[in-house]
Amino acid sequence: MAFSKLGLSKAVLDGVRAAGYVEPTPIQLRAIPLVLAGKDLIGSAQTGTGKTAAFALPILSVLDQPAPGPRSLVLEPTRELAAQVETAFRDYARFTPLKVAVAYGGVGYGLQNEALRKGVDVLVATPGRLLDHMGRGNVQLDRVKFLVLDEADRMLDMGFLPDVKRILQKCPRDRHTSLFSATIPAEIETLIQWAMRSPETVEIGARRMPAETVRHAIYPVSSHQKTELLLEILNRLNYDSVIVFCRTKYGADRVAHTLKRHDHAVAVLHSNRTQKEREQALRGFRDGRFEVLVATDIASRGLDIEDVSHVINYDVPQHPEDYVHRIGRTGRAQAKGDALTLMTAEDTDHVAAIERFISQKVARTKLEGFNYLYTALFEELKPGAPPAPRSRARGARVGRGYFYGSARRR
Ligand code: AMP
Repeated sequence: MAFSKLGLSKAVLDGVRAAGYVEPTPIQLRAIPLVLAGKDLIGSAQTGTGKTAAFALPILSVLDQPAPGPRSLVLEPTRELAAQVETAFRDYARFTPLKVAVAYGGVGYGLQNEALRKGVDVLVATPGRLLDHMGRGNVQLDRVKFLVLDEADRMLDMGFLPDVKRILQKCPRDRHTSLFSATIPAEIETLIQWAMRSPETVEIGARRMPAETVRHAIYPVSSHQKTELLLEILNRLNYDSVIVFCRTKYGADRVAHTLKRHDHAVAVLHSNRTQKEREQALRGFRDGRFEVLVATDIASRGLDIEDVSHVINYDVPQHPEDYVHRIGRTGRAQAKGDALTLMTAEDTDHVAAIERFISQKVARTKLEGFNYLYTALFEELKPGAPPAPRSRARGARVGRGYFYGSARRR
């Protein structure tokens, strides 16, 4: 089915074409008609499925012409997501006269004040900064027609739910609400009951499943050989861009430091870094200046970083959902990706929880030729486990396969 059959406005269809989209993704096919028909919507889809366009395209189509606003408010849990969703809205709206603005913390108020003063049709915001603007009288929400609560479970995790409720109370009752969440815990269910009117649910794929195009592997290792193994894996991988996830900010800084010492071009992303540093890290990673991004879970939710060939969990995530979010950075939009997880003896319970969560047993992999000091974890390796991937000469990349040849990056 073509985009042109979905009832979107001509200007928005032109934007879609300019974005290079040929066909709607499944969530777009199902969500766009519902939002156009004014229904409240609960969306649950894997990351990378095109959910931003699923709500942005119909909202822009209905708004159509500029008017006093904001008439659409999109709440996002992090600054990075807010910036990314604003960019997507701007792209889709480029042939419309509609104005899009973003408001998030960690940066000055000047530009945001100015944008709000000029008037916006679509405002993308993080809850805290939006409340600040409301408190300063910079923005009022009494004209909001479309409210989007994106990554609602993440907002809950980050303690934003009270802020979200305060914001909701300032929006007109007569509005359309869309909520996107990978999981629906009890608190979100309560929010749905309270804030939405007979919502339709659009669930694409199993809620918990990572993208099918991602290959998973677990690398058992003792905790004091983790860094050594990471370096060796990076040396042997034929990667374009890789994200290394760490549990703590301190750990991320430490790993990044070690990788830099070994001549990897590394950027770091965690919440102790300034907004400017975070933007520089993301921009540098996107445009290829940095080939490794070391990050805490702040980067795992919804960030649209294209062409991540590998995700490496240096630390096993504490929550199984975070595993799905982390590896959602790779294998996006049908591209192939690899997810490698380093597992120490202390991690076995967490790994078992992840395997239950994704309903999949992940192969334990041994890096041939690596000088393992401790091998007890391999005892659970089964004889039928998949063989290590084939070697391939560096530079002769085909697709995004593993590279297990002997050549070194240095
Ligand atoms: P999202 O799930 O919204 O983060 O989108 C994931 C990626 O898919 C983004 O890079 C979008 O630009 C891209 N995308 C969204 N819709 C389509 C589509 N219909 N065709 C191709 N790519 C798309």
